Order: sequence, then structure tokens, then C-alpha cells
Amino acid sequence: MLLKSTSDTNEHAPSYYAASANWQTDYPKLEGDISADVVIVGGGFSGVATAVELCERGYKVVLIEANQIGWGASGRNGGQIIGGYGSNPAAFASSIGTEGVKVVENMGVECVDIIKARIEKYKINCDLKWGYCEVGLKNRHMKAYRDWADDEPAIKLLGRDELKQYVNSELYIGGYYREDWGHIQPLNLCIGEARAAESMGAKIFEQSRITSITYGDQPKVYTESGSVQGDHVILCGNAYMGDLVPYLDARVLPATSCIIGTEPLTEEQIDQTLVQDVAVCDSRTALDYYRLSADKRLLFGGLANYSGLDPANAIGIMRAKMEKVFPSLRNVRIDYSWSGRMGISVRRMPQIGRIKNSNVLYISGYSGHGVAPTHMTGRILAEAVSGNTYRFDIMNKMFHMTWPGGKLFRRPFMALGMMWYKALDAI
Ligand SMILES: Cc1cc2nc3c(=O)[nH]c(=O)nc-3n(C[C@H](O)[C@H](O)[C@H](O)COP(=O)(O)OP(=O)(O)OC[C@H]3O[C@@H](n4cnc5c(N)ncnc54)[C@H](O)[C@@H]3O)c2cc1C
Repeated sequence: MLLKSTSDTNEHAPSYYAASANWQTDYPKLEGDISADVVIVGGGFSGVATAVELCERGYKVVLIEANQIGWGASGRNGGQIIGGYGSNPAAFASSIGTEGVKVVENMGVECVDIIKARIEKYKINCDLKWGYCEVGLKNRHMKAYRDWADDEPAIKLLGRDELKQYVNSELYIGGYYREDWGHIQPLNLCIGEARAAESMGAKIFEQSRITSITYGDQPKVYTESGSVQGDHVILCGNAYMGDLVPYLDARVLPATSCIIGTEPLTEEQIDQTLVQDVAVCDSRTALDYYRLSADKRLLFGGLANYSGLDPANAIGIMRAKMEKVFPSLRNVRIDYSWSGRMGISVRRMPQIGRIKNSNVLYISGYSGHGVAPTHMTGRILAEAVSGNTYRFDIMNKMFHMTWPGGKLFRRPFMALGMMWYKALDAI
């Protein structure tokens, strides 16, 4: 695959979401030296969800974003609200025990409840729709759904023909449906949450990149034109934080995913594609994910790579993938195309912890998920700041491993790993 440098500017990516944002955020740049109870670095879901939780608990919060609120993965993603994580919590039983596994599993449900309650409480208009299908291409996918359905009453198994009443494609051999997961316009949720935090007193700054940090009991963060000291600093820059904190840089691999947005589909086209307005993922490692926007565009995503670069012909590659699933969309117009970076952790679990035993906390590495889990981690971080570290400590025990290969070789290692998984996907 040919790659090119990412064309990010400090404005939003040219996404359908930026074009349909409820409003343009216009928070000031940080100038001068100020203080707060808690300073949050990064205005994606991790940052804004943490800000809301802290403001609700009465803390004085400053949120600093290098670009615009929702500029990173949170304002560019597939918008799919999916509970759980990239990894099964049971895989961590040796480090967190059976009680810890139960706690983490429950959080995989609570994260969706938080989004639902928050949208209602703060009246955030973000096109919330419930309904999700996972679709299988192989018998082993179907077996995994059947095994899961034994313990999970929310799952309704679908055979090939039943699935077509939701997703009208010949490609899949079956799948499952659940009504407790769904989709949203993510940028509108993110800016809506920022506004909720602001209404409770949070001070928000945009176009203000943190360039250095001093650690300790009273940590301090610096931009080129100001600084903020806090009792706590919470780092939420995830895959976009670069090497600001080398400890985190070594534990988060940025992966690129792309989305195309079609013109609005006609009723006839919808009958031949997404018959029900559900979010859809397939079960491969290099998966396709898609859904309809509020104005009935197909937003079709996929193409994970670990180069940190954009594919040179993203529209062509994504169109071919979309047409493989829905051949009837062969002549549909593509109105939008964009990409974003997600943070991958070695164990595919969100990493929550503390740097150098200081009051600098962090969250990163949701590994392809994040719309829902970021809302859970926001709550866990706020609990930790307010002295209840029970859930924080459990998450912190799930080893945060460094990527093998160091700075130079971890991307090629991962690219090789991805080729291996793609080969397995094809079997
Ligand atoms: C294309 C794509 C599709 C996806 N689809 C889905 C999906 O459908 N469902 C799902 O659950 N997950 C999905 N994800 C993953 C999900 O979007 C992320 O896990 C989640 O949004 C991460 O949120 P975050 O706040 O941690 O990071 P981000 O949203 O990336 O936010 C980090 C922010 O920190 C800022 N920042 C970085 N460094 C600094 C600094 N030094 N100073 C100040 N600010 C800084 C950045 O500018 C950025 O705005 C997708 C991701 C991508 C890229």
C-alpha cells in the first residue's frame, strides 16, 4: 500500500462530522500562568468525560487542547457505541483476580450507561440511535457468537437470512444483533460534553499545546505562552501526544483508520444495504465498520495500518471495500473522506496509571474501541482524584507493556503482526 504523510492541520479533519457540527468551538488560547484543582491535557472523549465527572464532583478544572475540542480520534471515529474493550478481562485474571475481572466486566456495561445518562442529562443533540450488529464471514465467527450468547442475554443470534433484515449483504454468513449498543455523531457528543463541563465552571483552552511537564505533588504543564499548576494533572492526549511523555510514547502505538461518507442514500439504496439503522462491525482483525448518518449517508470505515501515515489512495481503497459488501453502491458519490489515529496498547486494554508516583495520571490505548470506554475511564480518573482508587488500582494492575522494537522498529514489527492477522482473517 502506498502511504503519504498525514495532512493534519490544527483545524478539524475534513469529515462529515466537522461539516455537521452543531457549532464551532472557539475557546481561547492559554496566555499566562494559572492554577486549578485538576489540569486535563487533551480535549477528546477521555479529556471531556473526565472534566464532566470532576466538575460534577465540585472540582476546579482546566482543560487544555492542542487543536480544537474533538480534533483527535474522538471527533473522527465511526461513532459506534460498543461496550467492553479490545480484550477480554478474563485474560488478566492472574494480575487482577476474579473479583477484578468482574469489576472490569461490569465497567464494560457501565460505560454505555454513562453515555446514555449524559446525553439525557445535558440534552446533547448527537443523533443517538440504538442497535448494533456484528457480522461474520467465517464459521469460527459464528461459533464465537454462539458461545458468547450462552452467557449474554442481550445477544440475538442471526442466521444468514435473518441478518439480511438488518444488513442486506451477500458477504456474511450470519451475525448477531443487540439493542443496547448503537451509534452517535461523535464530534457533537464531544463538544456537547465540553459545553456541559464549561457550564459547571471548567475553563477550556484550545490551540494550546502542552510542551513540557514538571512532576511531583503540585505538577505543572507549560504551553509556549502560559502554564497551569494543579493538584493533579491528567494526560489524555492518547495517540496524538507524541513523545511529550516518553513512558507513554513507548506504550501507545498510533494506528491509522479511514472513513468515507457517501452522498445521502435513497430509500431504494437503503433497502439494499443497511435496512435497519444499526451500527455494524465485522469480526476480522482488520475489520470493516459502518453505519448510516442522520441524513442517511453510509459512513464506511476500516483500513487499520501501523505506519502512522495516511494511505495515498484512501478513497479508492475504501470504496472497493464498501462495494465488496454492498455492490449496489457501485456508482454512489463519495462526499467525504478522512482518517484518524487510534492508540493501540500491547494488551489491547485501556491503560490507566500514574507517572513517576506523582500526581500526574494518564489514560491511553483503547485499541480501536473508545467511544464508550473513554466515558468509563473518565469516571475512574475522577474517582481516583477524589480519593477512591479502587477501580483505578484494578486497571493499573493490568500490565502496561512497552511495544517491542523500540521507537525504530515497533511500527515494522506491528505491520508484520498485522499482515499475520490479515492472513488469519482470510483463512
Ligand atoms: C477512524 C477511527 C474510527 C474509530 N471508530 C470507533 C468506533 O466506531 N467506536 C469506538 O468505540 N471507537 C472508535 N475509535 C477509537 C476512539 O475514537 C478512540 O479510542 C477515542 O476517541 C480516544 O479518545 P481520546 O480522548 O483518548 O483521544 P483523542 O480523541 O485522540 O484525543 C486526544 C486529544 O489530545 C490532544 N493532545 C495531544 N497532545 C496534546 C498536548 N501535548 N497538549 C494538548 N493537547 C494534546 C489532541 O489534539 C487530541 O484532540 C475510532 C478511532 C478512529 C481514529
